[in-house]
Amino acid sequence: MADKIYRVNMSNLSFSIEEVPQNWMGLGGRALTSTIVAAEIDPECHPLGPNNKLVFAPGLLSGTTAANSGRNSCGSKSPLTGGIKESNVGGTSAGIMAKLGIKALIIEGLPKNDETFYRLHVTKDNVEFIEAPELVGKDNYAVLDEMLEKYNKKVAVMSIARPGEMKMLTANISVKDPGGKLRSHGRGGLGAVMGSKKIKCVTIDAEKYKEVTIADPEKFKEASKVFTKALQENPISGEGLPAFGTNVLVNILNEAGGLPTRNFREGTWEHAEKISGETMAENIKARGGKTTHGCHAGCVIQCSQVYNDKDGSYITSGFEYETIWALGAHLGIQDLDLIAKMDGLMDDLGLDSIETSVALGLAVDAGILEYGDGQRAYELLADELANGTPLGRIIGSGTHLIGRLYGLVRVPTVKGQAMPAYEPRAVKGQGVTYITTPMGADHTAGYAVATNILNSGGHVDPLKKDGQVELSRNLQIASAAVDSTGMCIFVAFAALDDPKCLPSLIDMINARFGTSLTGDDVTGLGARILKLERDFNTKAGFTPADDRMPEFMKYESLPPHNVTWDFTNEEIDAFWDF
Ligand code: SF4
Repeated sequence: MADKIYRVNMSNLSFSIEEVPQNWMGLGGRALTSTIVAAEIDPECHPLGPNNKLVFAPGLLSGTTAANSGRNSCGSKSPLTGGIKESNVGGTSAGIMAKLGIKALIIEGLPKNDETFYRLHVTKDNVEFIEAPELVGKDNYAVLDEMLEKYNKKVAVMSIARPGEMKMLTANISVKDPGGKLRSHGRGGLGAVMGSKKIKCVTIDAEKYKEVTIADPEKFKEASKVFTKALQENPISGEGLPAFGTNVLVNILNEAGGLPTRNFREGTWEHAEKISGETMAENIKARGGKTTHGCHAGCVIQCSQVYNDKDGSYITSGFEYETIWALGAHLGIQDLDLIAKMDGLMDDLGLDSIETSVALGLAVDAGILEYGDGQRAYELLADELANGTPLGRIIGSGTHLIGRLYGLVRVPTVKGQAMPAYEPRAVKGQGVTYITTPMGADHTAGYAVATNILNSGGHVDPLKKDGQVELSRNLQIASAAVDSTGMCIFVAFAALDDPKCLPSLIDMINARFGTSLTGDDVTGLGARILKLERDFNTKAGFTPADDRMPEFMKYESLPPHNVTWDFTNEEIDAFWDF
């Protein structure tokens, strides 16, 4: 049976199941969510008003046995940036949607009765709208427990916590992973959009699904073997990430002078070792946690982990470099266990841990807390932000707004979104990605760290501007394509280094759908999606002046390499010449 579009209208609590339009047929993941957003959302609409939509779409290979293919995309107009947003996640939702034949789930409108929250229960051919006053004021794990008790244990759960109900710009959408923990559509305030639609959670039934059909199973199996081998034999995806998680990057970036420290004042931190991937792995092993863990079924890289406290009790999982950096070098907390506790709290509260933690670091410059005061930072989350006090709402509004409210000049944001853990002056390719991606500062949009620092796909000197625009452009086009397949972005390391990896990925797509796509077709798709996203932003009011680095990075030189952001506007604007 052909895949369908499930469309939910919250203004009259109705749904329809529609045929997939011809021009959406060959699309999945980010390609599909961004295409639907561009086609159906007025770029000038208020992101929390009746004309914004939330669009979920599994990737082209989601639901298959292809390694690392279980990511789900969410697209919308972002209330944080005011531009287009795509944020993809592991967990169980993509596989279940694909197996139910849901090509995309589009949620539109706002309910007339905004006195309560609803939950949606999606099954094969049906969507139930259920008033859920009993869930209001509850956070993600409580909601998850109730849903797992109500339905079978395999049900996919996508939920918001109190910050999402309050439409905070740092709120994300959390998704159950196979181990019953949480992953997130993290960036851009998508949880606020779900909150505006008065949806507390969406459950997707896993009982009546069928395995996805494969047009040429033999060819698929062969290609899948080659692809998996390429991931496992790559030194980064086969060794570094499984051993230390993404947090392997603390020591690497620190040594490279690209670890943003004390709100982007320096590129190295004297306490980096205390929060490093190596320290984390030692703690995990000593405390009976797990150094390897997949955020979705079929992940062969397993960069996630389970981190326990000294007594062996669970604190957090999916403990990522970007969060550890923001609470560590950026905000000054040296205690990895406290950082883990804050990470677990942000999972439960459904907060973008990058935006929130960078905002906490900026709160130091605003005089709200002191550098390194982890206990107070924890209280700000647990007491102020979770309860929506005025101070909590300030922090929950994100980095850019704290800067404006407190008259700060050193505000590390692009298009209103906080920069993640890579110093753009010392990792210049990553800087080009931050300022040019239509998503706002986002490391995953074009991970130039790979070639600048990790020597994956060759080497481009991170401290010089030569070749960086071209590098970022190629990576952003490739990432837009990879995000459309449902693949985790970490397949990129093998794709950059192993000539067999990308062809085997394309072979799997062709074997799944009976198509004959070439490498050029896939690259062409990535380029088209990137331009379509840029076009949405232009219609929303963005101009080339929004593709700029915060000014302080142009005149403050960054130790230890004493580098500044030295690109001309013309050099940056040339990014779009393709
Ligand atoms: S490598 Fe990491 S992010 Fe990618 S699918 Fe596996 S656990 Fe998830």
